Amino acid sequence: FMRQSIQARAEAVARTEFLSNMSHDIRTPLNAIIGMTAIAGANIGDTNRVKDCLSKIASSGKHLLSLINEILDVSKIESGRIELSEEPFDLSVMLKDLVDINRPQADAKRQKVIIRVKDIVHEEVIGDHVRLQQIYTNLVSNAIKYTPEGGTIDITLEEKNAGSAKIAQYDFTVKDNGIGIPKEAQTSVFERFYRVDKSRSKQTGGTGLGLSIVKHGAQVHHAQIAMQSALGEGTTITLTFPAQSSGKK
Ligand code: ADP
Repeated sequence: FMRQSIQARAEAVARTEFLSNMSHDIRTPLNAIIGMTAIAGANIGDTNRVKDCLSKIASSGKHLLSLINEILDVSKIESGRIELSEEPFDLSVMLKDLVDINRPQADAKRQKVIIRVKDIVHEEVIGDHVRLQQIYTNLVSNAIKYTPEGGTIDITLEEKNAGSAKIAQYDFTVKDNGIGIPKEAQTSVFERFYRVDKSRSKQTGGTGLGLSIVKHGAQVHHAQIAMQSALGEGTTITLTFPAQSSGKK
């Protein structure tokens, strides 16, 4: 009886947690879709503009659909066993989609978003596109959220041991010049529900789950996370991850 009630409670906690995770992840592409629809509506006579919006709506929609497909597989998530898919995808396409999804939030705060792709030899890798994009989106949306108006978000993707054969190493870095994270909180921010302080939480909203998703995702991808942050100066988070090259360049 005892064991059963503990299990039931754990399940209830997992379900609540799961719903909160998802509200965080669904909001970003949905905001992009709504934003792009408004831009297209305001520029209905400008064919190129409308075409551009439609393609962004399509990529956000695709991302959302993949997320929802994952969500519907609740049993897997509740049992803690999420299988990673292994499909070839193009890293620079993913980076472009990622920026398209987050751009409306950055534009709304008049932030500059700089993207740099360095030394990429193997562009097509084999891995779980949706999960990787979910991790990156959390990092980029945090950078936007915790950087004041007019700030700068630097996104870099770099291949480390470029040239080596099957497993390539990549550094994905998101750098902002925002409010920063105090030293004593730099480990805790990766815990579930942890938020730095009430005053900043009130302004931004959020669940305290974004970085725990990043941490979990990094673990399953055998990625390393490095954080550098100073209060009032900004935050840099680098994810170093191995990925199998598809063989195509
Ligand atoms: P949420 O953003 O929903 O609060 P996260 O788990 O994504 O949850 O982040 C945890 C906390 O870490 C945030 O509440 C915020 O205070 C801090 N944080 C995360 N990213 C940044 C960043 N780029 N700059 C400053 N603070 C950040």
